[in-house]
Formats: sequence, C-alpha cells, structure tokens
Amino acid sequence: MDYQNILDSIHDEMSYRDVKGKVASYIPELAKVDRKKFGMHVYCGDQQHFHFGDSKEKFSIQSISKVFTLAMGMRLMGEDLWDRVDVEPSGDPFNSLTQLEYESGIPRNPFINAGALVISDILVDQLKDPKQELLDFVREITGDDDIHYDETVAASEKSTGYRNIALVNYIKALGNIKCDVEPIVDFYFYQCSLAMSCEQLSKAFMIFANRGRILENDKKILKPKTVKRINALMQTCGFYDEAGEFSFQVGLPGKSGVGGGIVAIHPENYSVAVWSPILNDNGNSELGMKALERFTTLTGVSVF
Ligand code: GLU
Repeated sequence: MDYQNILDSIHDEMSYRDVKGKVASYIPELAKVDRKKFGMHVYCGDQQHFHFGDSKEKFSIQSISKVFTLAMGMRLMGEDLWDRVDVEPSGDPFNSLTQLEYESGIPRNPFINAGALVISDILVDQLKDPKQELLDFVREITGDDDIHYDETVAASEKSTGYRNIALVNYIKALGNIKCDVEPIVDFYFYQCSLAMSCEQLSKAFMIFANRGRILENDKKILKPKTVKRINALMQTCGFYDEAGEFSFQVGLPGKSGVGGGIVAIHPENYSVAVWSPILNDNGNSELGMKALERFTTLTGVSVF
C-alpha cells in the first residue's frame, strides 16, 4: 500500500478553508490554537511511518487520554471494572449529567466524561502517584520520553471545569466514587492536558492494533482480551454522540478529543492520527473526520 501517496493526495485535496466549525473555547487555553493546523501520521506494524503537515507538532490530546486511562484501569481491575462503568453508547453529549440520575450513577461508558471520571477515581484510589504512572505508561508504549503535561491547559480547564466537578460530586452522591472530589478532578484535568503529536499518538496506539504489544520492542503490555474490549468501545463510543457517523464514514475504531485530534486503528495493520483543531457541532475535528473518510476510501481498507 502506498500510504505516502494516499496521504499526499489527502493533503492536496483538503484545507482548513473547506470547513466552517470552531476551535474549542470552553477551555480558554484551547481557543488560542491556530485553526490552520493540519497534520496526519500513519504507523504500520513493520515500524514504517508516513505523514504530512503538522504531524510532529504537539497539541492537547484531551479525551484521547481516556483510552490510556481505561487501559490502566483494566490492568488494575480486570473485568470487575464493568461493575462501575457500562459499555453502551450514550447518544448524549460527552459532558452530560442526565443519564446518571436514572441509571444510578453508573456512567454509560468510559469515554464520556462521567465514565472517565470514575476511571480517574480508580487510578487515584489504587496508584501511589497516578500522574507519574500515566506519564510512564504513555512514554513506554510510545517509546518516547518527550511527552509531558501542559500545566497551563490543565489550569485553564480547572478554572472553568464546573461541569466535571459537578459530575464527580453527583456520582459520589450516587455511591460510585470512593476518593475525594479534588484529587480526582485534578488528575482528570492533567490527563486531558497531555500534549502529544500525531506521530506520537499513532505510535502509541499501535498497542491497540498490535494485540497489546509495544511496537518498538514487542513487549506485551496489555492482554489481547483487554485490547478487544478497548477497540470495541472505541468503535461504539469513541466519538461522543457521533460514534455512529464516524463508523459510517470511516469504519475504524478510534477516539477523538476537543483539541482536534483523532486516532484510529486497523487491527493487525496500522494506526493513524490526524489533527485539525476546527470542531464540528459534536466536538469532533471536522477536517480530521473528512481526512479519515478519504483515507479508508482511498486505501479500500476498513474493519467492515
Ligand atoms: N477535558 C475535556 C472535558 O472534560 C475533554 C473533552 C473532550 O476532549 O472530549 O471537557
């Protein structure tokens, strides 16, 4: 497959000028990002990689971090984790509070904020230094120590994070949060502030294309069963209330974030990350979704 040729034609075909959405602004620091940014990176199982544009520039990965924390949560709790979080698409916005009331504080899935905050509670409860351990995990699977939190973004989200703080309080009132509210939201705001490039993300996500093995050294870090579950959740719940549309257009398991990043994988084959900070009404990168639709159309390969 001539991935570089396919990426070059996507780059030639598309531009930020073709999309009308807005850069996220509810986290003030994210509003400062240049809307012209556009990059894409593909990693393959034989370690070959291909890219265009701003694929080596770091951006705020936001909700993409929820895949990493879920992997860590599953390593700690195995199948018991599913007593605390469900595995159904929500069909509601990522930061919604409504379902929690009639579903007794069990979030619909680990990729909406409510679910990710329950996973944060598990990591804060069970790990000595969750922030450091998350960094260590992400650096290990990427084979790259140059991955850091963006403390300015974390502080910016904290200053406006009323909904997430409300979510943890509410879930705690319903009995599904063990720790104090403050360390949970602090950890959550840090995990969302992780800054990574498309190159780093596509490399890291090769563990999900590679049955839990790290691309660089083939070390097995997740069980194949864990990877199967995470990929299934990315397919059904990875795109807020637009998971159906992403499956329909792109046909790969993946995860997006309001920083404008999307990562998707093809099991046994490749991992692809794209970044354009202009979001559609559902909070997904507009150009990113279009680029991935072209990618699976031009390669003729999706999971379907
Ligand atoms: N930190 C963001 C929030 O909780 C993450 C949202 C996202 O990327 O979906 O609002």
